[in-house]
Amino acid sequence: MSCGNHHETPCRDVLTALFIYLDNEVGDESRSQAIAIHLEECGPCQEEFTHEERVRVAISSACKEEAPPELRARVMQTFTEFRLTLTEIDLPNN
Ligand SMILES: [Zn+2]
Repeated sequence: MSCGNHHETPCRDVLTALFIYLDNEVGDESRSQAIAIHLEECGPCQEEFTHEERVRVAISSACKEEAPPELRARVMQTFTEFRLTLTEIDLPNN
């Protein structure tokens, strides 16, 4: 993928480093700055970056929702109680 313009850092390099960049684990200030500059100059790479960022936010918020086991247990209990109530209602009234 390339926007056709010349960049100091090639698109391929930026896209390869994108995941590391998203994790803030580039570990090299000048390299992470070069990626930031490239993302400002290059539409397609910025789009890719924005997309990856959104995916990460979505994943992390989904994980947070599933995280507390107490809540999960409580939901399961409520669900079981609800099912029991339903069963009671369904029972013939002799
Ligand atoms: Zn690019």
